[in-house]
Amino acid sequence: MAFPPERVVIIGGGVTAARTAHTLRDLDEPCAITVLSEEALPPYDRPPLSKEALLTEPAPPPTTLLSLDEAAARGIDLRLGHRVVGLDAAARLLKVDRVEEPVPYDKLVIATGARARSLPVLEGLPRVHHLRTAEDAARIRSALESHERLVLVGGGFIGLEVAAAARIRGVEVTVVEVAPRPLAGVLGEEVAMHLQQWHSDRGVRFHCGVSITGAIDRGTHVELSLDDGTVLEAGCVVLGVGVHRELDWIAGTGIETHLGVVCDHNGRTNIPEVFAAGDIACVHDGGACRGGSHWTAAVESGQRVAYGLLGLEQEQEIDEAYFWSYQGDLRLMSVGHRTPSSVMHLVSGDLASGKFVVEWREGDAVAGAVAVNSARDFLHSRMALRGSKGALAR
Ligand SMILES: Cc1cc2nc3c(=O)[nH]c(=O)nc-3n(C[C@H](O)[C@H](O)[C@H](O)COP(=O)(O)OP(=O)(O)OC[C@H]3O[C@@H](n4cnc5c(N)ncnc54)[C@H](O)[C@@H]3O)c2cc1C
Repeated sequence: MAFPPERVVIIGGGVTAARTAHTLRDLDEPCAITVLSEEALPPYDRPPLSKEALLTEPAPPPTTLLSLDEAAARGIDLRLGHRVVGLDAAARLLKVDRVEEPVPYDKLVIATGARARSLPVLEGLPRVHHLRTAEDAARIRSALESHERLVLVGGGFIGLEVAAAARIRGVEVTVVEVAPRPLAGVLGEEVAMHLQQWHSDRGVRFHCGVSITGAIDRGTHVELSLDDGTVLEAGCVVLGVGVHRELDWIAGTGIETHLGVVCDHNGRTNIPEVFAAGDIACVHDGGACRGGSHWTAAVESGQRVAYGLLGLEQEQEIDEAYFWSYQGDLRLMSVGHRTPSSVMHLVSGDLASGKFVVEWREGDAVAGAVAVNSARDFLHSRMALRGSKGALAR
C-alpha cells in the first residue's frame, strides 16, 4: 500500500518561506507543500523597499519570489490572506484566522519573520509610518512625494537608507537617534562617524542622544517634542527602531521561545517535526541565543531547514552574519561581528576618501569586517574571516 505524501506546511510570506518551498521542490521530494501567508501579495523581497521602491520612477512592483503561477506549476499550494493564529502541536493542526477548517501538517516550518517595532508615544498617528511591507513602502513613497519635511526616528540601517532616498528626492530630513551616534554599537565609533558625516554632507540633520517625549498631529504636520526641549515639525515621520518577533500565538503550544522561536542550526525546535527559519528563528549557539535579521541568513536558513526536515544534512554551516546596506550611492557590506575584545585595523583605502575596508581582529584572527564602496577588497576580508573561524572558536 502506498503511503500518502507527507504534508509540509510553511507559515510565512517572505524570502524564508519562499526559499524553503523552492528548495523542497528542487530536492525533488514528493511531499505536499502548503504555504500560509497573511499577506495579500505573493512572497516578495524586502530589501528593495527602503531603496529602489522609494526612488525608481515609476514605482517598481515588488520583486516576487514565488508567484501564484510558479507555485501552481511547482505543486505548491500558496494560500494568501491566511493568518495563522493557533497551533495544536499534539494533534498537528493549525488554526487560521477566519477559516473554520484547521490545517493539518506532518512537518511544520515557522517562517513568520519579524514586525517593525512601534513607540507608544507615536502610536495611532496617521503621519507616522513603519517600513516592513510593500504597502508600507508605497505609503512612505507617497508621503515623500507630498511632504517637504521628514523626521526619521531611529538611525539604523533601514532608517538611514530611507534618509538617503528622501534626500535624493529633495526632502528635508532630520534623524532622531537615542544613542550618541547612529550605528556606533554595530560599526564602531570611527566607521559610524564616517557614515554620519556622509549623510550630514548630503543635508541630513541629526539629533542624537535624545528621545521623543510627545507627539501631536496638527492636521497638516506632526509636532514632535524631544527630551532636550527641541520641537520638530514633520510632514511625515518614519519609524526605524528595530523589530520584534510576534510570539503570542505560539505561547502555550510547548514550543520554546526566547527572542524568537528557539531552534538549532538546522531549524529544529524542541517539538518534533516543528522547525523555524529566518528572522523568527533564534539559534542556540553555546550559551547564547542569536536572532537574525538579515536577508542572506534568512535565505540560508530557509534552505537549511528544507534539508533538515527531509533528514538531509547540508555539508557546511555558513554563518558569517553577512549583510549589506545601500544608502544612496554608498555601498556598505559587513560580515562577522565587532566583538568587545577586537581591535579595528584599516586594511584597504582610507575613511576620508569614503572607500575603505576595516577588520576587527582578535590577535591575528578576523572576527568581522566592514567595507564601504570596496566590494572587491571586502572579499579578501570575508575569506580571512572564514579562515579565522576555527581560531576564534578555540
Ligand atoms: C525595508 C527593509 C529593508 C531591508 N534591507 C536589507 C538589506 O539591505 N540587507 C539585508 O541583509 N537585509 C535587509 N533586510 C532584512 C531582510 O529583508 C529580512 O532579514 C528578511 O526579509 C527576513 O525574511 P523572513 O522571510 O524570515 O521574514 P519576513 O520577510 O518578515 O517575512 C515573514 C512573513 O510571514 C508573514 N507572517 C507573519 N506572521 C504570520 C502568521 N501568523 N500567519 C501567516 N503569515 C505570517 C508576514 O506577513 C511576512 O510575509 C531588510 C528588511 C526590510 C524590512
